[in-house]
Amino acid sequence: MDIFDRLESNVRGYCRAFPTVFETASGHTMIDESGREYIDFFAGAGSLNYGHNHPALKARLLDYVAGDGIVHSLDMATSAKRRFLDTFEEVILQPRNLDYKVMFAPGPTGTNSVEAALKLARKVTGRHNIVSFTNGFHGMTLGSLALTGNSGKRAGAGVPLSHVSHMPYCDYLGTEADTIAQLERFLEDSSSGLDLPAAFILETVQAEGGVNVATSGWLKALAELAARYEVLLIVDDIQVGCGRTGPFFSFESFGLQPDIVCLSKSLSGYGLPFAITLMKPHLDAFDPGEHNGTFRGHNAAFVTATAALDEFWRDDELSRKVRRDAELIRDTLLDLASEYDAEIRGRGMIQGIQFETPDVASEISRAAFERGLIIETAGPKDEVVKALPPLTITDEGLREGLGILRESVEAVMSREFVDSNR
Ligand code: PLP
Repeated sequence: MDIFDRLESNVRGYCRAFPTVFETASGHTMIDESGREYIDFFAGAGSLNYGHNHPALKARLLDYVAGDGIVHSLDMATSAKRRFLDTFEEVILQPRNLDYKVMFAPGPTGTNSVEAALKLARKVTGRHNIVSFTNGFHGMTLGSLALTGNSGKRAGAGVPLSHVSHMPYCDYLGTEADTIAQLERFLEDSSSGLDLPAAFILETVQAEGGVNVATSGWLKALAELAARYEVLLIVDDIQVGCGRTGPFFSFESFGLQPDIVCLSKSLSGYGLPFAITLMKPHLDAFDPGEHNGTFRGHNAAFVTATAALDEFWRDDELSRKVRRDAELIRDTLLDLASEYDAEIRGRGMIQGIQFETPDVASEISRAAFERGLIIETAGPKDEVVKALPPLTITDEGLREGLGILRESVEAVMSREFVDSNR
């Protein structure tokens, strides 16, 4: 029994799906202790949009560390933080005409950003209830978990998960149903049982929930409804922000300006933990220190985040590449879907293929791993294979990874066919 089985908690998960010991990584490639290479279509669950150890980011980080740049500073002012804020304002906010204040989350993970957003929305509005949507995933701390749909994840809470109402996401009731009209009916009817919420919180593409894509019409209608009822709109862009769907923010193309935005994962660009919550200036309502934390300033992450903005967001080259590569991924999945009666969905470089038979997606992920591709599953029953390569993947890497995916689907589906005819 190795040290992982013997000493590490049973809670570990991804090491079971990808059973090897990784040692080094570069770009879209991860290498294990035996020297075996894997193409990474998982990208740290969306934390490695720019790949592993990107040279430009690494160089800045190494310089910073070599120069004794400050690493830990709580939320004191540092030169690294100033450079990040200056660059974020210049490269991201100003060109998009976005007026937000930046709150560094009190801890560096996505769920810290979500907790900050919830607490702020409740403080500003004086209301306790939050509306989240079926199949949404927002993190594992109690506030975020209360928003999360998945019963398996909720079961771990140990206490009632409260002060949240779950409403149907875009096509949850089928493409014909008008889930916005339904939500509006609940809001307007004082007898519906829905307490007027402080906020709606949503992902524009539900990543963990099965790659469910909200339509432009649904998103716009939700934003209008929020404005009409003075409910704050929170977009959790933790997994599908930072270019995953093409533009920096996943909501940009729809003309949305959410009241609050949660960002983490690929924000540091290098896989370093880092989370912020953006809020419209009039919502900047916490008193000094009212929401605080020891790791609220992670200077190494400020450095790599600034480098990532410099490297990738001063022009639209990366966004154009995402649109191009997305087409290739989509074409491959479409082909597979028509061959095997599966369903595909996604936006930009988050694309999923859903199989009807339970366990098929997990088997495909396993078969892919055996062939040198890391790809995970998503959805309430892990029924979707989710392609999430680094946005910077080379053409060759992308084609090779998609080739392995195709082989893996064919291998699993031919087994399925044999089994079902036994
Ligand atoms: N929100 C979304 C949309 C996520 O996908 C995740 C993680 O997958 C989280 C929040 C939670 O982030 P973290 O795991 O860093 O706490």
